[in-house]
Amino acid sequence: MQPKVLIIYTGGTIGMIRDEKNGTLKPFRLSRVIKSIPSILELGIEIHALELDEIIDSSNMTPDIWIELAGIIGEQYDKFDGFVVLHGSDTMAHSASALSFLLENLAKPVILTGSQLPIGLPRTDARENLITALEIAAMKNADGNSLIPEVCIYFEDQLYRGNRTHKFNSENFDAFLSLNYPILAEAGVKIEVFEHRLLERPTKKLVVHQKLERNIAVIKLYPGLNFRIYAEMFLKNNIELVILESYGSGNSPTDKQFMEDIKELLQNNVIVYNVTQCREGHVEMGKYESSSELATLGVISGADVTIETAIAKGMFVLAATTDVEQRKQLLQISLRGEITT
Ligand code: ASP
Repeated sequence: MQPKVLIIYTGGTIGMIRDEKNGTLKPFRLSRVIKSIPSILELGIEIHALELDEIIDSSNMTPDIWIELAGIIGEQYDKFDGFVVLHGSDTMAHSASALSFLLENLAKPVILTGSQLPIGLPRTDARENLITALEIAAMKNADGNSLIPEVCIYFEDQLYRGNRTHKFNSENFDAFLSLNYPILAEAGVKIEVFEHRLLERPTKKLVVHQKLERNIAVIKLYPGLNFRIYAEMFLKNNIELVILESYGSGNSPTDKQFMEDIKELLQNNVIVYNVTQCREGHVEMGKYESSSELATLGVISGADVTIETAIAKGMFVLAATTDVEQRKQLLQISLRGEITT
């Protein structure tokens, strides 16, 4: 029996065409995407496809659409061996992270892919990305189960754990990085899957979560930042989680006002989550004097989480429980392989 894969089309450059009037790229319908690659019908995969009501540039992605996507995958879960989500690359890392949390006990592949050039152009990267993503989504192990039990991004020959990715290049076909976790597979003449790097196959049934709480804020430290303004704004607007994009291994200024502001946030039950601005490496509060006070005050460490995943995980964890201690605990453990513990 042929493996069955569902394509879910959300939009992105992959399906865009040039607007004749003003020359900008705008999203187009799925039928055009599929028609552009007749060879997908020769893959030996039974392919079904559906598209969201509104086809978007992924700059317009929202937590509600993540919930909708997770819901679609949940509804179609038993009918398919794998899923390919066509998505713009700009917020693909965010969506892959969010889906990884919303889909608990996932035993089948959910592969996000897209392209840097529209599918209709002669030099497009869309064809290879889509064809290989479909092949990966259809892969089975010796027991006949889907091989890859996780949410991934496939882009330019490499398969990444979705919640470890970051879009680092807006011009090259090679647009994604996963610096704190190695790639899961590489497509050359053959597709080589590094099975020992995959998440363990879950024994429990899929749970599709349907809630994300947006009450979070991200603040990036820079020399000269007036943190007071933001601390006041966070308190006034009942922000419950502040992601502090810190320097290096989790360092921050040590001046009295900054520490007072952090203390005030914490006293008001705002969680302060320390995530490094560096793309590689992890937060280690206490390594330098410039971070030891943060730890003493009760700021929690994001370890080697990406900023995209810190945001998605923050929304997920706030929705999962109202208990502050429990929230802090969930943020500091690996739920879907998103941090190295
Ligand atoms: N702006 C586009 C999007 O994210 C870029 C892309 O698809 O690569 O939808």
